[in-house]
Amino acid sequence: MKELESKRAASQVNWEGRPVWAEIDLDALTSNVHSLQSLAGDAAIMAVVKANAYGHGIVPVARAALQAGARWLGVVCVDEGVRLRRSGIDAPVLVLGHIQAGEVNGIIENSLTPTINSLEIAHALSGAAREANTVLSVHIKVDTGLHRYGSIPRDAIALAQAVRSMHSLRLDGLFTHFSMAEDGENPYTEEQFRRFLTAAEQIPGISVRHVCNTAALLRAPHMALEIVRPGIGLYGCYPSPDLKDRLMLLPVLSLKSRIARLHRLQPGQGVSYGHTWRADRPTTLALVMCGYGDGLPRSLSNRGSVLIRGARAPIVGRICMDMCMVDVTDVPRVAEGDEVVIIGRQGNDEITADEVAELAGTISYEVLCHITERVPRLYMREGRLIEVETFLHEGKALR
Ligand SMILES: *Cc1c(COP(=O)(O)O)cnc(C)c1O
Repeated sequence: MKELESKRAASQVNWEGRPVWAEIDLDALTSNVHSLQSLAGDAAIMAVVKANAYGHGIVPVARAALQAGARWLGVVCVDEGVRLRRSGIDAPVLVLGHIQAGEVNGIIENSLTPTINSLEIAHALSGAAREANTVLSVHIKVDTGLHRYGSIPRDAIALAQAVRSMHSLRLDGLFTHFSMAEDGENPYTEEQFRRFLTAAEQIPGISVRHVCNTAALLRAPHMALEIVRPGIGLYGCYPSPDLKDRLMLLPVLSLKSRIARLHRLQPGQGVSYGHTWRADRPTTLALVMCGYGDGLPRSLSNRGSVLIRGARAPIVGRICMDMCMVDVTDVPRVAEGDEVVIIGRQGNDEITADEVAELAGTISYEVLCHITERVPRLYMREGRLIEVETFLHEGKALR
């Protein structure tokens, strides 16, 4: 761990494009997969990479997670699965979300594993699989209390029986999703688990059962069964602060910038739209090219801060779409070009996605997912840049 920390600390990239980028530390991701695996025991890890891997970039993250030992990938929709296949990934991919009849061919053509949510979908998939001369592995989701989608236990059992009679489908998996796992020691999770096991007992021949998201795995590793489905934990965030002492997870994403310009302000002068902040002393102001168009929540205006030369400097005035202003009067020797850490570590201080989320009144998941595609993703191994994913640069879009 010490070694990893020093490699992480050493990371210094020289990104020469517009000065805002996300560094994705694949060593941290690897370490998180290993840590989660140590809790999961013999259960296989399904790395949940939906929503562009929570903003981290679906393809490089999926590759790194598989390399670290994950055996499955979880996505929420067919298009995400297709993206993985087009990049050459051939590991099993479960489509966790609700699917529509129009997506059936995409599932077959790309060998994705769908979640069957109705008899109609089962028939459509079975027909398409027969036509393609293949047998499609499928999972069924049991709604044990989240009340979002999935079939209530009685319907799941009936659906399983119907699927079993369709020779082009093979029912391999059964799963559920918890509604309170991040919510302290809530007995409802155990209740959902019991309901799930009761339903599973009535559907023989299932080879993989899975119920654990990150929170459930951290809180109740005895529920690991055959597969666990961590998402946020892979990315080094905790689904709830009370779970921090269960496992050492390392943040994977840092959002960084450089000071584009310094200028002086006289007392009384206002900053940014609406002049919601005014200098009350001679002030040095840094222009930072990161705004809500990059994913920095506008609600951090006059509330958030960034790290510059290891010190915290407050964001002043309204955050704009493309930039924000930072009061650096108290940062010694501040200079144009200095690294600005918006999320991540610098010196001895760290701003976590959780801290940003808390100030913005949301959760780390949303902060990470909201980092927009304008921000290049820089993939790091041992402190070195190994791959860049940008959506704007010609020829590099949507790899
Ligand atoms: C998103 C999701 C997960 C991952 O949840 P985390 O809280 O990020 O670990 C697991 N299972 C399902 C069904 C999901 O939709």
